[in-house]
Amino acid sequence: MRAILLGPPGAGKGTQAETIVNEFSIPHISTGDIFRKNIKEGTALGKKAMEYMDQGKLVPDELTVELVKNRLLEDDCKKGFLLDGFPRTLNQADALEDALKSMGQSLDYVINIRVRKELLVERAVGRRICKDCGQTYHMSFNKPSKEGVCDNCGGELLQRKDDTKETVENRINVYQEQTEPLIDYYTKKGIIVNIDGEKPIAQVSKDIIAELRK
Ligand code: ADP
Ligand code: AMP
Repeated sequence: MRAILLGPPGAGKGTQAETIVNEFSIPHISTGDIFRKNIKEGTALGKKAMEYMDQGKLVPDELTVELVKNRLLEDDCKKGFLLDGFPRTLNQADALEDALKSMGQSLDYVINIRVRKELLVERAVGRRICKDCGQTYHMSFNKPSKEGVCDNCGGELLQRKDDTKETVENRINVYQEQTEPLIDYYTKKGIIVNIDGEKPIAQVSKDIIAELRK
């Protein structure tokens, strides 16, 4: 299965990606995770990406598109993939389509997770990530058993630098301006699956899997 997760910041893309990739045994490709790994490792790409990410702006397409194209050529993507957080602009969507075409492939689904703007800030500001294994939690909606400690690996839970109220609000505006047009783009292609992302996490997972199994 070749699929994309679409939705505003805090909609639950990363959370649902975990269930979907386990169910379909495909790699999870999150451009945000790739940029954060590069920042942690202090690479040249990480340094450039950080300037944009810290302000809640999009990293330029020139940096993002090549990264994804190269990732899709890796062996594990032969069985399919789940893209999370890419594409985010019409230009990226066109580039993805061209890249897949040149590999004789196409997208099966675009999973559009819908959550009202009023709920997104609370979701993102309350998000906590394990600094060691990357597991995502929420301080109210998806708590770890012990505050500040990862259930999986015992690692420390941290807040993302771009999960402050102000930066999240910027990111939501950027989403509305630059990414929301993709809903129309993929609806016209007839591959969009709309999911109510305001239900509890487990119910959203069930709804997504049911749609993809149809
Ligand atoms: P995204 O990858 O779309 O930015 P995440 O999957 O990281 O979003 O989710 C954002 C935050 O909201 C996380 O803290 C997560 O635990 C929480 N969350 C995700 N889905 C739900 C849900 N259906 N209901 C309540 N909280 C959720
Ligand atoms: P995310 O982890 O998906 O919330 O992304 C965090 C940040 O990484 C975004 O706010 C952007 O600055 C950057 N980013 C991630 N994916 C992309 C993309 N496809 N295009 C441009 N910037 C991106």
